[in-house]
Amino acid sequence: MKYVSTRGSAPALGFEDVTLAGLASDGGLYLPETWPSFTPDQICAMAGMSYVDTAVAVMAPFVAGSLSEDELRELCTAAYGRFSHKAVTPLVQLDHQHWLLELFHGPTLAFKDVALQLLGLLFEKFLSRRDDHLTIVGATSGDTGSAAIDAVAGREKIDIFMLHPAGRVSDVQRRQMTTVLAPNVYNIAIDGSFDDAQALVKAMFNDPGFSGRFNLSAVNSINWARLMAQVVYYFYAAVRLGAPDRAIAFSVPTGNFGDVFAGYVAAKMGLPVAKLVVATNVNDILHRALSSGDYSQGTVVATATPSMDIQVSSNFERLLFDVGGRDGLALAAQMKGFEADRAMRLTNAQQQGAAQMLSSVRIDANAMNLAMRWAHDGAGQVIDPHTAVGLAAALETQVDKDVPIVTLATAHAAKFRDAVERAIGVRPAMPTRIGSLFDREEACAHLPASFDAITAYVAERSTESASRKVGING
Ligand SMILES: *Cc1c(COP(=O)(O)O)cnc(C)c1O
Repeated sequence: MKYVSTRGSAPALGFEDVTLAGLASDGGLYLPETWPSFTPDQICAMAGMSYVDTAVAVMAPFVAGSLSEDELRELCTAAYGRFSHKAVTPLVQLDHQHWLLELFHGPTLAFKDVALQLLGLLFEKFLSRRDDHLTIVGATSGDTGSAAIDAVAGREKIDIFMLHPAGRVSDVQRRQMTTVLAPNVYNIAIDGSFDDAQALVKAMFNDPGFSGRFNLSAVNSINWARLMAQVVYYFYAAVRLGAPDRAIAFSVPTGNFGDVFAGYVAAKMGLPVAKLVVATNVNDILHRALSSGDYSQGTVVATATPSMDIQVSSNFERLLFDVGGRDGLALAAQMKGFEADRAMRLTNAQQQGAAQMLSSVRIDANAMNLAMRWAHDGAGQVIDPHTAVGLAAALETQVDKDVPIVTLATAHAAKFRDAVERAIGVRPAMPTRIGSLFDREEACAHLPASFDAITAYVAERSTESASRKVGING
């Protein structure tokens, strides 16, 4: 399988190179040259498969040429063996039409584990083949940071520097990052928003002085391998609810557009997806783009769903590329305009292409709280605020009565205990596998949102020569 850049001028690469590079050298994001697809019979055959078997079946075409099926199976068995539920991503029924897909049974209680546990193992495998070292620099709104740190802590060939916006992640999220005291883990709290953190990481990769000195090869917003790993649970859930004979709708709490784009990929591969609902909080750039073609950056407002407090959605570029006719050079010009003006219009082709499968709903705090109560009172389910944004959007969406709607439950309620307690009057208990999070020592640098301060910090601690920087923002 070869991968091409959304901006049309970087060379096509294989899966191993794309995984290590992250962002393409022309600033674009990598996508498969063509979508692999399954026949209805092949999808039918997934109904009896375990999660790991489904993962191997779905991902094998994407890794072809870089990993054998046996190697892929070994990595998936190790990655998903760390989940606390035997189904890995179990479905829970809420009423006759609504379901939750629980994606939070990994080590750090959010869906990011599904992708990052695998990505950590892919990095290790590919680095040992090359005898190379990796410096990961990332920005997190909370969940990516803890999941990435858990996935690479203690691995010899990798250092990780993780920036988070000071005071804007929950106490559980922060402690899940800062209490990991492995020698290759560096946490940095910055004075600013997640978008500021993401911009700093991007600037580090784009600065020739810095990236040249550290042999920085790439910046990426979201690694293709992460999206690939997320495609799996759309298949896993849909076949259990009647696919391929029946179409399924999904509602996805959305920030950087990675999770919902994985659903789009599943549909491209032949899964019958009735609709993908992009659920945003009041930081609604995606809702504005999808409903009116206006992709313009607003100011980030802090909400009870910090992992969705985003005004630039990196992976949206992948959708625009695919639905807009895959014209990389035209998209590069359009994105340059966006970077300069912080605003752009979608073309008619992009808007109409997106509307064929995606709809969007903007959910405010009141609707979010009502959804938490609805799930608790009607189905005895304690859900987290991000999941509640997804569920609220699912409840507002018009879908035929016989189409099941699956809301992706992206975080465990215990990760956001205060917001949950405010909404339903119940304080979620910490799962025992989290252990003594609140007794452990924290280690974290606190720096201004300044390029010089951050680069000086990283430069002092990073392995200099022969290192590659890989970004895993979002
Ligand atoms: C990251 C995250 C999201 C947003 O997912 P994207 O792939 O960035 O759209 C939603 N909910 C939770 C809990 C998250 O951690």
